[in-house]
Amino acid sequence: MKINGFKINYSAAEIKKKVTEQMRQVVLIDSNSEAYKNLAQGDKKALQYLVNAARIINDVALEMDHPMNLVQKQALEVAAEKSPYAANTLRLFNSLNGVAGSNGIDKEPVEIFEGIHQFVGRNFYPTDMDSTELRTTINKMLDAGKVDEVRKILSARTMVRRDGDLLKAIDYTEYFADEFAEIANELECAAHFATDELFKDYLGWQAQALLQNNEEMDILADKHWAEMQNTQLEFTLSRENYDDHLTPQLFSDQELCARLSELNINPVPKDMLGIRVGVVNKEGTDLLLKFKHEMTKLAALMPYADKYEQNVGAEKGLKQTMVDVDIAALSGDYALCRGGITLAQNLPNNDKPSLAHGGGRRNVYHRQVRHSAESENTQKILQKLVSPELHQYYDNEYDHIFTIGHENGHSLGPDSSYQTALGIYQHIIEEHKADMVSAAMMPEYVKAGIITAEELKSIYVTWIVKRHFMKAYPSDMEAHRMADLIEYNYLREYGAFGFDADKKLHIDFAKMQSGSRSLLEKIIEVQLSKSPEFAKQFVDRWTEWGEMLQYISDFKQSLGIRPYIEIKTYF
Ligand SMILES: [Zn+2]
Repeated sequence: MKINGFKINYSAAEIKKKVTEQMRQVVLIDSNSEAYKNLAQGDKKALQYLVNAARIINDVALEMDHPMNLVQKQALEVAAEKSPYAANTLRLFNSLNGVAGSNGIDKEPVEIFEGIHQFVGRNFYPTDMDSTELRTTINKMLDAGKVDEVRKILSARTMVRRDGDLLKAIDYTEYFADEFAEIANELECAAHFATDELFKDYLGWQAQALLQNNEEMDILADKHWAEMQNTQLEFTLSRENYDDHLTPQLFSDQELCARLSELNINPVPKDMLGIRVGVVNKEGTDLLLKFKHEMTKLAALMPYADKYEQNVGAEKGLKQTMVDVDIAALSGDYALCRGGITLAQNLPNNDKPSLAHGGGRRNVYHRQVRHSAESENTQKILQKLVSPELHQYYDNEYDHIFTIGHENGHSLGPDSSYQTALGIYQHIIEEHKADMVSAAMMPEYVKAGIITAEELKSIYVTWIVKRHFMKAYPSDMEAHRMADLIEYNYLREYGAFGFDADKKLHIDFAKMQSGSRSLLEKIIEVQLSKSPEFAKQFVDRWTEWGEMLQYISDFKQSLGIRPYIEIKTYF
């Protein structure tokens, strides 16, 4: 079958299998859920406008991701009315939220259409541009004195296009002027009906930031956003730069980096946009706040704490809000379910200027994503791969506690200049650092009486079994999973855990604590080095895919895996 002239790469039966047996649902809240019913009338109205905004940003993200996304989606929607084959293909498209993407299992990306491949610079850059041409062109433009244009080209908020044999940058507020105006309009309407003053205020700033080509407005919007702790509604315009794989390659060219640095140009990968809408859950939020109160204490306990400036701590205080949210919409970047879906997010990321201007962070946890985690195979995995005396400790709720430690971990450690300097390794190292802050600092929460020593065991057992027992090699360098692989190899070699003759897991809990601390020290050394070469050596050293990992992933795959995710939205 052809869609808009492009043949679907999979047979009708193959597509059907992907969207039935291999797809799981994340069911968001609807108008019957308690979270929604308890809202004031005005907030209910506001929520609907915010969901409208979410729908519009999805088209923006599709355009950023691939130039063929929007046309192929439209053609699929037409074909789907008559053909179940096309209808199923549309479900697969919506799951990836694009024409192609990794499913987290297969080595090669899933490409829905024959001849339509992903691009290294996505659609942020000219699609035929590789890193060599980008570097040559940037140098040529600097030779010609076009410093301001280069600055724009290497900023997080521009689409880059050819301009003769040079390049030009188009600010998002211009490239997406129509969509941003519509979104700003929805936000203004939501602000009119919402009941909370801080929330109204934030929406106003966010709407302005979408209308003006002015980074100052983003800073103000981010600052207001990060301060909201007690609002009823949650709205986030997410800006994260994990998708652009071209800009980070510049960091391997030291000569060019030095040249840019002299001109005070700091290349930042392009932001992919997304919107999240929901209702803040009080009970879940209260649990998060218990962990939050420990953070300044933890900052002082970080390895090499005297060698870099802490983001949080005595003189800076703790500018961090945290909420647990019942989710009503996840769109754009949030809905690019390419091998996974985000459990929680702590923004703004370190590359965003609001942090340097005194702004704080806001950490949002996704209840519906957390509760949709697969548990059907857990018993089988424990029986086959885990020593019986550890079974009692496995509990999904402790994965949530680990995630809290991970998110808080992003707020600790060396600042963004150390992170971005690691080039293509920056995300692996940063995610790995956040994991290790969580693992190494957990005993401190025991000391503070927030969790018990038995619960700490549950956290470690669940961490290893859920995260380190991987379902496949992370072939696409996916940051979180590469981090898992490093941790598995390091902690196993350290003797924190091992396997008996029956290939069942055993844990030395004391060594889990000291080994986690030791690995956290190593990872901070990598960040402090600012050396992509050192980061590469570290990653290469600890990402071997051994026999036991193959055995584990074979077993997990034999149980059946659902790598595709469908987000069910009701508003
Ligand atoms: Zn993270």
